[in-house]
Amino acid sequence: MGLAFCKKHGETGITPNISVEICEDQSKGSLGKIQDICIVNIKIFDGDEYLYTQENYISKAAFDEAGMNFEYIITCEEDEEKINVFFPETSGMCSACFKEYIISRNIKLHGC
Ligand SMILES: [Zn+2]
Repeated sequence: MGLAFCKKHGETGITPNISVEICEDQSKGSLGKIQDICIVNIKIFDGDEYLYTQENYISKAAFDEAGMNFEYIITCEEDEEKINVFFPETSGMCSACFKEYIISRNIKLHGC
């Protein structure tokens, strides 16, 4: 988790890998376009060695449209390129703002 400065929360932790669509929905306030968010886990391997899991937050609409899965495994550059073809652009958001956004909009989180 990185650190950033939030106008509302001051120095704060960042939740990375949130789709830009969600960030826009959050920053525009009252649109309420997104009701469901899917958590997509990307497991990163270096050959046989497991490195880490990257959690990505994607709107359910985008998830369904691309026919995405809840879990992907990346072991080489080719795997990454395949995912990048359909994966939405992501950005980071203040963790406290993200939490408030989910609670205040009563957004459902889906994952495996
Ligand atoms: Zn904040």
